[in-house]
Amino acid sequence: LPLIDEFLGGVVLKNPIGIYIHIPFCSQKCPYCSFYSVVPTKELVESYTLALISDISSHSGIVADTVYFGGGTPILLGIENLIKVLEAVKKSFVLLNPEITIEVNPNSISLKELEKLFNAGFNRISFGMQTSNEKELALLGRKHNSNDVKKAVENAKKVGFKNISLDVMLGISDQTISSIKTTLDFAFSLDITHISSYMLKFEPNTPFYLEDKNKFPDEDLVSDFYLFAVDYLEKNGFHQYEISNFSKKEFQSKHNNKYWNLVEYLGFGASAHSFYDNKRFFYSSSIDDYISKKESVYLENSTPDLTEYVMLKLRLVEGLDVDILEKLYDIDAKKMLKLASEQKYKDFFKVENNKINLTPKGFLLSNSLILYLLK
Ligand code: SF4
Repeated sequence: LPLIDEFLGGVVLKNPIGIYIHIPFCSQKCPYCSFYSVVPTKELVESYTLALISDISSHSGIVADTVYFGGGTPILLGIENLIKVLEAVKKSFVLLNPEITIEVNPNSISLKELEKLFNAGFNRISFGMQTSNEKELALLGRKHNSNDVKKAVENAKKVGFKNISLDVMLGISDQTISSIKTTLDFAFSLDITHISSYMLKFEPNTPFYLEDKNKFPDEDLVSDFYLFAVDYLEKNGFHQYEISNFSKKEFQSKHNNKYWNLVEYLGFGASAHSFYDNKRFFYSSSIDDYISKKESVYLENSTPDLTEYVMLKLRLVEGLDVDILEKLYDIDAKKMLKLASEQKYKDFFKVENNKINLTPKGFLLSNSLILYLLK
């Protein structure tokens, strides 16, 4: 971390940054999703591509080692445009052995298109599978089925992708431990390298928010799903490294790790966020503003504070190193070790060598446990 190097008075070696490119297009809205997105038109796609390229090209010489195309549905920008945007990144930034990821819906991409992406430099692909159960997919309003996922993963491998991630959602109505096991077994059978497993959230202003919650598994049951998934993933070689992320050895998401480790990143596109030069800033959630180059909105005094640092570190299985925390924030944090070691919290915290980690049960209560540590 540059932050730590600086504080310790050592040589400041700036870490390569991450680059995030946001494509806020979706052909239709999934009923649980609150992300900003619009249905693209041909004209919008073209002007958005030009705006991205012009924005990216205003930088030069910054060293980066991850590029992440997220959405929305990045593929809706069109394969050729995605490649043009990536070319602009390659021209404007110094990319060091980069991890280049794209999020893809399993039913939206052909073998030929995957081949074009791989040949252009994309080397990591994240498929929004959610579940392999057809009924659960229908309840989520997703248009793909498990065959699409199988085909998409096989095609991705065929053209050369070696780093493939699948999303798995927990908390879908009618979901059971047995159906989650089936979904995970299906994922394992595809021999992929990474799984992100998120709990369904009822976000305001989404159709699911207004649904009768009795149709969905209650909090206790979703907690059981989560604990089952953590354990079953581990037994099958997917090691947890963050609350919701699991990977085979050497396949953690380099890009997402930057967010949790407070390494700098630059975001391009409507509603994309950045953390650069000790400042946080973001573009408004308006494609029109972005295309017409309206000013970004800057958040001031937003250098990560103690609370944010503790929250981010405790999301990671690697945990919070109290010695580093004390040096960074010039505080006496030994009290935290004592609080985390209290007998009644033994199921939630692990304390070793001045490090605090949340256990899987602790991850489920992370917000209140972090407040307890910071009290
Ligand atoms: S879940 Fe993904 S595909 Fe569905 S609306 Fe949200 S961003 Fe679009």
